[in-house]
This record gives sequence, structure tokens and C-alpha cells, in this order.
Amino acid sequence: MSYVSLPVLGQSHAAPFNWQTWYEDVGGRTISIPEADAWMRAIVEDQVPRFDGRVAPMQQHFATPREAADWVKASAKSDIVGICRVEAADVYAGRSVDAQYAIVLGSRMRYEHFVEVPSEQAAVECLRVYHQLGEEVIALANAIRAIGHACTVEHPLGDSSVMHIPLALKAGFGELGRHGSIIHPTFGPLFRIGSVLTNLEMAIDDPVDAGIGAFCDRCKACRQFCPPDAIPDSRFDDGIVDHTGRPRYVVDTGKCFPYFARQNYCSACLAVCAWARKSWAVGLDGQPLPFPSVPFGTTPPPLSQRVEHHSYPQIRRSEASPHHRSKQK
Ligand code: SF4
Ligand code: SF4
Repeated sequence: MSYVSLPVLGQSHAAPFNWQTWYEDVGGRTISIPEADAWMRAIVEDQVPRFDGRVAPMQQHFATPREAADWVKASAKSDIVGICRVEAADVYAGRSVDAQYAIVLGSRMRYEHFVEVPSEQAAVECLRVYHQLGEEVIALANAIRAIGHACTVEHPLGDSSVMHIPLALKAGFGELGRHGSIIHPTFGPLFRIGSVLTNLEMAIDDPVDAGIGAFCDRCKACRQFCPPDAIPDSRFDDGIVDHTGRPRYVVDTGKCFPYFARQNYCSACLAVCAWARKSWAVGLDGQPLPFPSVPFGTTPPPLSQRVEHHSYPQIRRSEASPHHRSKQK
């Protein structure tokens, strides 16, 4: 399970999704890692004020939607790039989006920081990539505005108007794993997602069915290594199916979050994920790295009201972003 992470923004930034309540339910915020906090501060203080930008008055037109998509993908600097339409179901309740297209960006986290999970090293890597991906969505938005097309930045770290996971699935990032996160066919599950929204007409990508769901049906590595036993044994057949037509695996957030909140944002399920026999679990030099160790530690009691508590995972964008504030009215 991979939560939208920490609003270490201070009490002045009230959150539409009440992370504070979640943390109060598990005894408050107990994780404090100076390096992770520094990345968070850099996002809030340096990146958020750069979400908006001037749209050039001269608009560049493309001969076809495919040409526009190719230009956008060439302009994006992320490891994974896909394009899809934005539908009403992709937008959080209470928000409105007037863009028809999402350009979804994914940046990989480095597996070598996850060879022990939970760990401070893994937590820092999560925040580092949130920051890196923040730069990537801001840069792409600036490039699109420079050719005369308006767009909005949807940062990977919460307070987005859209849900990145359904957008990424539509944009061909991969399939939902048993652990509730997207698994990319080549890159596995260790990446974060952000988006740029625009009305520039582009060719869209197709969702992927790479056999990942079928693999998960036979593999239970994440379930075996989840310390609080939050990952299900079977799919949850409530009539809702994923894009491959299968019912989803639904992680018990009431069990996951209490552990996640005390154990460096956990990430064990991502690190141990056995998809493709861990072919994606390599170092920067491409060499395979060992299967992670998972010191389970103490497992806190579960929360009971998981559905009510985990329905709206957003944090408020800062006062520096008037465009998005107006969308929330
Ligand atoms: S507690 Fe379980 S589901 Fe939650 S992040 Fe850890 S391994 Fe994943
Ligand atoms: S560890 Fe196995 S079951 Fe869990 S998400 Fe990865 S491939 Fe699927």
C-alpha cells in the first residue's frame, strides 16, 4: 500500500482529507527524519509557488493529436509517461477540473534504498522522489504553457484535484497489484506518480494487461511480508472491477496505516514485490540487489473506521496557488 504522504505543513494548512485525525487515532505523528522533512519543506516552500505560470499568447498547433502527444512525451523528463482522458470519476469530490487530458508522469525510486524496509533510508527516498517528480511536472507544465496551452500541475504529494492511480492505469502504467499499488511491467512497483492536466488535444494511451493481475493471483509475497497483515488473501468481489475485468484486491487501510505511521511509512509491500521475479530490483548499475529484509517490529492495533477515515486523501495547496484555490470553491 502506498499512501499519499505527509503534510508536515503546520496547522495553518488545513487538509480536506484529515490526516491529522488518522495520526491522532494512532497516537500522533511519531516519525521525524530531518532529511525527509527537508524534502517536504522544499516541496511546500519552493515548488508550490511555482505551480502556476504564464501561458504564452501565441499558440502552437499540431497537425494531429499523435504529433501533440509525441511532442509532450519528448518534453517530459520522467521515467514513465502516459496520456489519458480525465473523467469525472478521476476527480476528487468537491473539486472541479476543466481539462480533458492528463499527462501522467512516473519517477522511479531507487531499489537500493529499500533493501531494508521499513527504514529511514526508504522513507527519505520516497520524499526525494516526490520532490524530483514535482520538478518534472512543473517543468512539463512550463513547456506546455510556453507553446500557448494552459495546464495545471497536479503534484504527486497530495492536494491534487485528481486521483493519480486511476489516471495512470488508463495511461498504460501497468496493473494494480495485490498490494494496492500499480506494478509497471518493466519497472515494477517502486515509482511515484504525478500529472499535468490540459486541454491540448493529444492521442491517448491504452491501459495495459501484461499478466500482472494473473501473477498476483498466484503470488502472495507482499501478503506474507506485510507486518500487520493488511494485504488480502483474495480479491474483493463488490461488483467493481479493474480495467482488466477483475475484482480488485482491497488493502485493509485500518491495519496498514497504524503500522505505516509508526514504521517509516513502511513500503515493505513494494520492496518485496515479486513481480517478474524481481527483474526490476536492480541497482543504478543494473546489477540485481538482494531480496529485502523486513524487520516486522511491533504491530499496533488496527483502526476500526478505515472507510470513513480514508475516503479523501488530499492536503491543501498553499496560499501561493490562487488558481487552484478558486477551483475548490
Ligand atoms: S503495512 Fe502492509 S500494506 Fe501497509 S505499506 Fe506496509 S507492507 Fe504495505
Ligand atoms: S508481491 Fe506478488 S502478489 Fe504482491 S503485488 Fe507483487 S506480484 Fe502481486
